[in-house]
Amino acid sequence: MIRILALVLSLVVVCGLHAQTSKPNIVFILTDDHAYQAISAYGSQLAQTPGIDRIAREGALFRNSFVTNSICGPSRACFLTGKYSHINGYKVNEKTFNINQPVFPEQLQQAGYQTAWIGKMHLDSIPHGFDYVRVLYSQGHYYNPVFIDKQYQPEKQSGYVTDIITRFSTDWLDQRDSSKPFFLVVGQKATHREWLPALEDLGAYDDKEFPLPPNFFDNYIHRAAAADQDMTIDKTMRLAEDLKVHVNYDKANDYNRMDSAQRRIFKAYYDGISEAFDDAHLTGEALLKWKYQRYLKDYLSTAKSLDRNVGRLLDYIDSHGLRNNTIVVYASDQGFYMGEHGWFDKRFMYEESLRTPFMMRYPGHIKPGSQVDGMVLNIDWGPTLLDMAGIKPAAAMQGQSFAPLVTGHAKDIRDALYYHYYEFPQPHHVHPHFGLRTKQYKLIRFYGQLNSWELYDLQADPQEMKNLIQDKKYAKLVKSLRAQLATLAARYQDQEVVNLLAAEK
Ligand code: CA
Repeated sequence: MIRILALVLSLVVVCGLHAQTSKPNIVFILTDDHAYQAISAYGSQLAQTPGIDRIAREGALFRNSFVTNSICGPSRACFLTGKYSHINGYKVNEKTFNINQPVFPEQLQQAGYQTAWIGKMHLDSIPHGFDYVRVLYSQGHYYNPVFIDKQYQPEKQSGYVTDIITRFSTDWLDQRDSSKPFFLVVGQKATHREWLPALEDLGAYDDKEFPLPPNFFDNYIHRAAAADQDMTIDKTMRLAEDLKVHVNYDKANDYNRMDSAQRRIFKAYYDGISEAFDDAHLTGEALLKWKYQRYLKDYLSTAKSLDRNVGRLLDYIDSHGLRNNTIVVYASDQGFYMGEHGWFDKRFMYEESLRTPFMMRYPGHIKPGSQVDGMVLNIDWGPTLLDMAGIKPAAAMQGQSFAPLVTGHAKDIRDALYYHYYEFPQPHHVHPHFGLRTKQYKLIRFYGQLNSWELYDLQADPQEMKNLIQDKKYAKLVKSLRAQLATLAARYQDQEVVNLLAAEK
């Protein structure tokens, strides 16, 4: 009996140790406004992204990855809490994240992880759950940015933001306690507006002529909210601030912080662009097309540094014995329009901004080159990482682990997703809306000043140009999708939507 007890005890000790040492490290690269249309792993025709593609090639590419509220700060709040915006309270960018609520990195800490967030966070408060914080002040700057620590102490840096964040990340990895597993969020500012490339990438795409998306000249017919936005390349995108034509280098904040050597190189490039622009005397459609080309050139040049730095980080991980026991994730806080519907920016429940890139590498656990088709959400990211670390996600989290999708144990974790966007009217006049997306259909309800429904068949109309809501053929389908929407709103405790739908019955 004593011998058996001793054996059991020794097994407990061995298993306990095993559990302790086998916990995976996690590096979560979270970028800002990086569109899947600009990533070659997703079949981009616009640019090659060999650094980012490596994660998909050596791991899994998620083909149906979405957000629950397509905007920066709120998306990060959904990530940290695993809850919808109406539950975590961070519905719009101007708000401050309420730190008096649980976030999933606290669960990692309790399980023995050391945790860090380095780079862009932009929650205007610093949530619990991180042992180490070195983040950009607010939105941050591309050149010579200011970082703050946990005590909000500012520290000015010299150089380009994407390089600095990567360097800070590897510095932290160098200095960490290597006896413990770690969770590191590398929050990149790129590719946020106003798309300032690294000096070495200026003009990287100047030889390229980008094709216009097929729905670039959208007339928004039968789509009242799409017609009423303020985010077109034509009218909203600014020649000076966004496209750097005759920028006032002494007044604009991003330029007057450059040192003289940086400014000389930057100015030489954009002065050349401004001169060519003046000589061309563009108007009308020619001007619009020119703006589109310049937008893509700057955006993709900014992404070029991002891609190079992802490669650098992977090189570090692989050359420091961390490759096999580290989960590496690449994701953006939401998608972005690269001229589809004539737009830039995000917010709408249409595909380009509802989707977000997501890929994950974990050698020995995820088969290289895996493609995941199941629909996943940003509120699932936390529960998934906890699950993969052998930690039970807190019951109050609304997302669910999609680990079974990468281990091949399941094809789907949901048959429909729920979405709710709030920020209105500023800055881009996108009316608040909520909706439901299944594999084939999308039902959207705009509310507030607008009171309109939209229905799309994503298979027949992937560009979402034909609102089918008035088509009698779909009346039965709309009824069932609407019921499913009400069920999801109730499940996720979105009382505002539950009440609104109930009042209309
Ligand atoms: Ca964003």
